[in-house]
Amino acid sequence: MTRKAYVIGAGPNGLAAAIVLAQAGLQVDVMEAESTPGGAARTLELTLPGFRHDFGSAVYPLGAGSPFFSSLPLIDHGLEWIHSPAALAHPLDDGTAVMLERDLLETRNSLGIDGPAWDKLLRPYAERWTELAPEVLRPLPFIPRHPWLMARFGMVALQSARAVARRFRKERTRALFAGLAAHSFLSLDEPLSAAFAIMMAAPAHAVGWPIPRGGAQSLTNALCGYLSTFGSNVQTSSRVESLAALANVFPEYDLTLCDLTPRQLVEIAGGRLSERYKQRLGRYRYGAGVFKVDYALNAPIPWKAPECLRAATVHLGGGFEEIAASEKTIRMGQNAERPFVLLAQPSVFDNSRAPAGKHTVWAYCHVPNGSKENVLEKLEDQIERFAPAFRECILARRVFSPADLEGMDANLVGGDIGGGAMDIRQFLFRPTSQHYATSARDIYICSASTPPGGGVHGMCGYHAAKMALSRWGGG
Ligand SMILES: Cc1cc2nc3c(=O)[nH]c(=O)nc-3n(C[C@H](O)[C@H](O)[C@H](O)COP(=O)(O)OP(=O)(O)OC[C@H]3O[C@@H](n4cnc5c(N)ncnc54)[C@H](O)[C@@H]3O)c2cc1C
Repeated sequence: MTRKAYVIGAGPNGLAAAIVLAQAGLQVDVMEAESTPGGAARTLELTLPGFRHDFGSAVYPLGAGSPFFSSLPLIDHGLEWIHSPAALAHPLDDGTAVMLERDLLETRNSLGIDGPAWDKLLRPYAERWTELAPEVLRPLPFIPRHPWLMARFGMVALQSARAVARRFRKERTRALFAGLAAHSFLSLDEPLSAAFAIMMAAPAHAVGWPIPRGGAQSLTNALCGYLSTFGSNVQTSSRVESLAALANVFPEYDLTLCDLTPRQLVEIAGGRLSERYKQRLGRYRYGAGVFKVDYALNAPIPWKAPECLRAATVHLGGGFEEIAASEKTIRMGQNAERPFVLLAQPSVFDNSRAPAGKHTVWAYCHVPNGSKENVLEKLEDQIERFAPAFRECILARRVFSPADLEGMDANLVGGDIGGGAMDIRQFLFRPTSQHYATSARDIYICSASTPPGGGVHGMCGYHAAKMALSRWGGG
């Protein structure tokens, strides 16, 4: 008899879990609350007709560098990666920009006296990305397959971004490193913040920071397309309110994998979980939120530094100290006066995102979890600082507060886009020491609230499904 599994939530991790289970021969049904699959990997007309915006994620170093996604025939299902000439631009107040080139040697040459230090820091991980990625995109292994590589990585990654940035002598390079580390949502003085800079920069040199032609939805559609070859489909507009109610209607399911964060898991599966496990989930902490704006523009952004138009992603926040101060303020629960802004300009490289001659832009900054403050002006001031007259290009904008984001994807609790804070404790115990397993033998958690955490890589779903299969004897 074919064994059956439910996956709740069709984000990248839910879809990855569903694919692993389907590959193992299970019949898989995916239930998705929203009308379009993808979670924080969806593309929607959020402003004007013909302008296609990424609701959540937009740029995919870890998607292109994911060991699991790379093993799937996603290209056969319509996925096409587009690489901008440079991975990232980081403009500065002097009207120039420091560039993270895809090519490590080119970056080394462009960084002047800091070039050798950049090369020395990144080359071991960029050159051995295919060995490093499976080791770091999983729960911390007791016995790594590449112990020397992991030991070397650990020695740098566990440090604060500030400590590692001391290797660089020029403020430009330190600014670049700060922007990369700020993806952590940690203070740049905290341990582990350097890990994020490495985990952003190494894939830039190894696999690039690509965008999917057509937007995030193309990646989701490719995952759904491949899943459908096993006879499994995603049932959209199907929010699961209670696992018990689901089991009453469909008692024959052997496994349930939840692409949910701990709070939602307790809400829908509470009756099936032990009190002790629920208490442990109750201690799980969510991270800072984001405030996001999607723009329809009548022209490309008029950057002071024209080289910014060579990169799909632009980091706006000035130098190291300014970014560090803004991230520290947010970590302390307050809004920053000059927030660090992450911006993507996909239509410069993908003409399917906007009508001819027009452009879409995606930008967000970090805010305290659940913040209700409207920081639109602060965010746009940061863009105008490096692109005067930006506001004159705006045809329409759509603003998402943390609550608006959560309203469109219940996993974005308080606007937290990473499924929970990623400090040392929640790096090791995510969401508990059991990782994907819960107190119920047939229920697993597979979202970004499990290792390796946030980002579109599908590795949380992959490892959760592998654990479920091996414990249950189906792997
Ligand atoms: C604004 C923003 C920008 C980002 N930028 C990037 C980026 O550029 N690159 C990158 O790699 N990552 C980025 N991320 C992070 C990345 O998108 C997430 O870490 C990733 O999507 C997590 O995948 P997931 O499957 O765990 O959760 P999600 O993608 O959040 O998917 C969860 C799914 O579960 C569904 N669901 C929830 N509750 C229920 C229920 N009760 N019943 C049924 N379905 C339910 C939701 O509707 C959703 O579809 C960004 C996220 C956001 C929001």
